[in-house]
Amino acid sequence: MEKLLEEKVQSLYCKDIDSCSNAELYVALLHVTKETIAEREYNTGERKLYYISAEFLIGKLLSNNLINLGYYDEVNKVLAKHGRLLSDIEEMELEPSLGNGGLGRLAACFLDSIATLGLAGDGIGLNYHFGLFEQVFRDNLQCEEKNVWLTEDSWLNKTNVEFNVEFGKGTVRSKLYDIDVTGYNNKNNRLHLFDIETIDESLVHEGISFDKNDFKRNLTLFLYPDDSDDAGRLLRVYQQYFMVSNAAQLIIKETKERGYDLHDLDKHVCVQINDTHPSMVIPELIRLLGNEGIEFEEAQAIVSRTCAYTNHTILAEALEKWPLMYLMEVCPKIVPIIFKLDKKIAKKYDDEDLAIIDKWDRVHMAHMDMHYGYSVNGVASLHTDILKKNELHKFYEIYPEKFNNKTNGITFRRWLMHANPELNAYLASLIGEGYKKDADELEKLLAYKDDKKVLAKLEEIKRNNKLELKKYLKETQNIDVNENSIFDIQVKRLHEYKRQQMNALYIIYKYLDIKKGNKPTTPITMIFGSKAAPAYTIAKDIIHLLLCLQMLIENDPEVKPYLRVVVVENYNVTKATKLIPACDISEQISLASKEASGTGNMKFMLNGAVTIGTEDGANVEIHELVGEENIYIFGEESDTVIKHYENHDYVSRSYYENSEVIHELVDFIVSDELLAIGHKENLERLYNELLNKDWFMTLLDIESYIKCKETAIKDYEDREAWNKKSLVNIAKAGYFSSDRTIAEYNRDIWHLK
Ligand SMILES: *Cc1c(COP(=O)(O)O)cnc(C)c1O
Repeated sequence: MEKLLEEKVQSLYCKDIDSCSNAELYVALLHVTKETIAEREYNTGERKLYYISAEFLIGKLLSNNLINLGYYDEVNKVLAKHGRLLSDIEEMELEPSLGNGGLGRLAACFLDSIATLGLAGDGIGLNYHFGLFEQVFRDNLQCEEKNVWLTEDSWLNKTNVEFNVEFGKGTVRSKLYDIDVTGYNNKNNRLHLFDIETIDESLVHEGISFDKNDFKRNLTLFLYPDDSDDAGRLLRVYQQYFMVSNAAQLIIKETKERGYDLHDLDKHVCVQINDTHPSMVIPELIRLLGNEGIEFEEAQAIVSRTCAYTNHTILAEALEKWPLMYLMEVCPKIVPIIFKLDKKIAKKYDDEDLAIIDKWDRVHMAHMDMHYGYSVNGVASLHTDILKKNELHKFYEIYPEKFNNKTNGITFRRWLMHANPELNAYLASLIGEGYKKDADELEKLLAYKDDKKVLAKLEEIKRNNKLELKKYLKETQNIDVNENSIFDIQVKRLHEYKRQQMNALYIIYKYLDIKKGNKPTTPITMIFGSKAAPAYTIAKDIIHLLLCLQMLIENDPEVKPYLRVVVVENYNVTKATKLIPACDISEQISLASKEASGTGNMKFMLNGAVTIGTEDGANVEIHELVGEENIYIFGEESDTVIKHYENHDYVSRSYYENSEVIHELVDFIVSDELLAIGHKENLERLYNELLNKDWFMTLLDIESYIKCKETAIKDYEDREAWNKKSLVNIAKAGYFSSDRTIAEYNRDIWHLK
């Protein structure tokens, strides 16, 4: 590696390593790494997987590729010899913003594990030029800017693959870019990102606003363009059809090139539909098989044996239903096919709830997936149970054999080896390297549960990570946190169901308590990071409240030594990698039944944080694995919550009126103190929302949350007992390796080899 790097900086810059800037070294390392990757083989097999997803939240790639290629330690040493740090050079890499949150990060972890397990499986998505927006705070409000990540030198490889995609109002020519996906000590796969040549970045003026009507110039500018008007919603459909038409054309092309008969497509291809965004791949594949001379009935049967669907949510607004009118404008060629698919169902089942096209002429994407795919999976055990019992019950009754659970996972290459090198090295010294290939071996750590030296060392590593984060927050946001405080972290997309607002009420509780003279023994630092969808008003109000609380406390010398609030700007994979290893308490407090799985919860656990959470998503499985004494569980369970929704009997105002504590906390949102800092409009809207609506039942659980968190904070005082909890969490995290998840997908759904 040293020689390769020396040669590379010579040829690029006519310099030696010592005289290169970090930016130059980054580019040189990028090229050396890409060349090394290109020398490796790609996975092949009788049957190939195509994982289609609107999002791939891949994060920075340099370190992870070096880890997977086996050059990470060597490059670190070479750089150290020249007085340089890989972590500094990594700062030069821009994070691709090709995803939004958990779903996109899951797709990225899956690609890593698919390659690591040696399976032939490529990702297919779009090359959004400005991805998701970049979040900046101004005047305690979230503002959105375009997220620039595409640069001259990047991980993208331009290919000569191009297709025509025919829309109702004209044809565009696509262009394919590939990013190589490296397996850990294994071969490569690819992430295929489609784009158009006619894209016009200059369409974007202030913030993230642009002309939404000109699809030939705006198609791949942004991920999830604002859908609060018709033009924005139409653009989303344009993007989806563009994605799946390219996917279907690529699949047909490659299958032919591999020498297979398209009548046998399902023997050689499987398609995983990640959430409903790629659902139109079903009619599009049927259409293309038709063009190849395969008649409708047979084409439909083939495609139905090829496509499998993953459900990620029970939130109604996320199960896409597109007006037929949109499809007629965007992709008229597949509309007759969707009609035929709908007719077949209508003939068989006289039930509006099962229809693909409903009586308002809306096309239900998930319904199409379930009728015409061969597998439907949920992403955590509780979530799959709720799908079967409630949300998708009627489909489960018709197709019980299609339903299965695949509890999500995370790649340990990124979330342990890269994010927490010190812990990784220590674990290897204690239990050997075996866990890097077989994550279940982390359980060997349990043998050290009562070893005072090991527990003290885990505490020391956590402290070092907290110091690292302290340095980073100082450099990036000029905030000075206290490394001796408890780091309590809630980082995830902002959504009412995730209940950041409940955590905000806890902060108010603690603030008022300190004001009354009750000072916590160990200071507490509450850290948040989350983007709100640009059109999601209440979510932005919650960010406003958090920023106002941060400012209130920063300016209060009485409270500041004991309680701090830090809202990290522009939460993304890079920030997650720095925050998670430094966490003591992991906040997973969604309203039970609403978080399908969560994967943040797994990352925190793996890095030795102790969870405070509800019985929701994968928290249930974490709870089972670590046992009662190593997790803090509170709140109503999903059955109770589901009943409240069914009976429409949750009235937030009665909780407010019947509890003095709740009354005081909610009122503080519109107190003189906060109104002096924040905006009346935002704070009052949030206050009214909590009082009159509170759709995600914050006030239902707030008191048990406060009680539970007080217990956790008190327990933290017994450092050794806490470190033991931390150890058990690490030891039991093996189940959440995405290698396990992918092995299960392959065993039950894909059957690749
Ligand atoms: C893991 C991850 C998420 C998902 O977090 P949840 O807590 O599961 O919602 C979102 N964003 C980023 C950047 C992540 O790394």
